[in-house]
Amino acid sequence: MSLDLRTGRSVWLNQDNPSHHPPLTRDISTNVVVIGAGISGALVAHALTDLGVETLLVDRRDVGAGSTAASTAILSYEPDCHLYDLIESFGVEAGVRIFQSGVEALLLLEELTKTLDDDCNFGKTSSMYFASCRADAKPLRAEYHARKRHHFDTEYIEETEVGRLFSFAAPCALLNPHTANVDPVRLTRSLVRCAQKKGLQVFANTSIKKYDREGNQSILTSDRNHTLRARHVVFATGYESQQFLMQSTVRLTSTYALATEPLIDFTGWYERMTIWESARPYLYLRVTADNRLVAGGEDEDFVDEQKRDALLAQKKHTLERRLKQMFPAIAIRVATAWTGTFAESEDTLPYIGMHKKYPGAYFALGYGGNGITFSAIASRIISDLILKKENTDAALFGFTR
Ligand SMILES: Cc1cc2nc3c(=O)[nH]c(=O)nc-3n(C[C@H](O)[C@H](O)[C@H](O)COP(=O)(O)OP(=O)(O)OC[C@H]3O[C@@H](n4cnc5c(N)ncnc54)[C@H](O)[C@@H]3O)c2cc1C
Repeated sequence: MSLDLRTGRSVWLNQDNPSHHPPLTRDISTNVVVIGAGISGALVAHALTDLGVETLLVDRRDVGAGSTAASTAILSYEPDCHLYDLIESFGVEAGVRIFQSGVEALLLLEELTKTLDDDCNFGKTSSMYFASCRADAKPLRAEYHARKRHHFDTEYIEETEVGRLFSFAAPCALLNPHTANVDPVRLTRSLVRCAQKKGLQVFANTSIKKYDREGNQSILTSDRNHTLRARHVVFATGYESQQFLMQSTVRLTSTYALATEPLIDFTGWYERMTIWESARPYLYLRVTADNRLVAGGEDEDFVDEQKRDALLAQKKHTLERRLKQMFPAIAIRVATAWTGTFAESEDTLPYIGMHKKYPGAYFALGYGGNGITFSAIASRIISDLILKKENTDAALFGFTR
């Protein structure tokens, strides 16, 4: 059974150039099968192919047509929880390492896009994380001190400075100079295209229905009853993975996003920074390479697709109204809006690695608001595990953490 992952045309699909991959029509044996050709599967398949590992990628949809096409694609190392919370939950060493692995993942994505056949509109930027209310100022200050103490590049600004740089008010904010943006569909397709040149086999419109393990081989059965045999399998099946795992620590929600027509003037928006806030669920904004404002938020705590889609017009209106309040001098005209399913784990971290229910398989589940950064972390960990190389980060993001 599949989930309806998204509705409405996201800004990346407005410039769509569909990729064409055949369905699976025969049985194949290979070394690694990656199920799921979103950004997670593309990163894992690209990393493995690059390391000379014979790999096959299969998806029930097209490449990049799942949640990845709905993403607003802000690349950030800051997970949806504070560094001091991570330190409290996991200890100093692990908490700091979780943050640091995000910084490294961002660098990995930056270096990787330089090697691809498309720049994917990857662009570095800064971000501003503001306190949504007075009560959030104290935790933000604590977060600033935690980041400073552990040498993460950050700046704290007071209310007056927020008011000088932006046309909206906030009690205080943190500035982070290391954030980036990308076109997630172009990135996914480019990764797959480049890996194909190095031997990656790709099949679309093929659903994997069954997973069996015999000896040291996994056997996957497709919806047309063809089999894929492999030593290793990677589930990069996004939010639909819950149908295999049914984790009680994962919450599926509904989320909303919009993109405007290209903006000419950015009055009241300092350096076109990526912006997000301390409220939960939070509002977040970025600018695209062609100067569109992309905003997301307004999450609802349910996953019923009909109910989710019925709210799209109202949510678009709410997001638009909020943007106009924040930037009264900017002429905002919404071009497109969309909605999608979203998943977050209890501790806001991804699940990466082996699961006892599926011997021989690895999961790359980048849950949360910076899922793409987590997917990059997953590509590193999973390729190391498959190549039997030590990776000390594996324990931080594993199912038994
Ligand atoms: C509105 C929205 C905004 C977001 N904004 C951001 C953001 O700003 N920054 C960020 O980092 N993250 C963001 N995220 C999260 C990010 O988009 C996701 O973490 C990421 O796209 C997940 O990629 P994926 O490859 O794991 O999943 P997907 O893109 O969904 O890919 C999984 C693929 O698996 C395939 N599949 C599933 N089951 C099977 C099966 N049985 N057989 C064959 N194929 C199968 C699906 O067809 C799908 O193509 C956002 C998400 C949403 C919805």
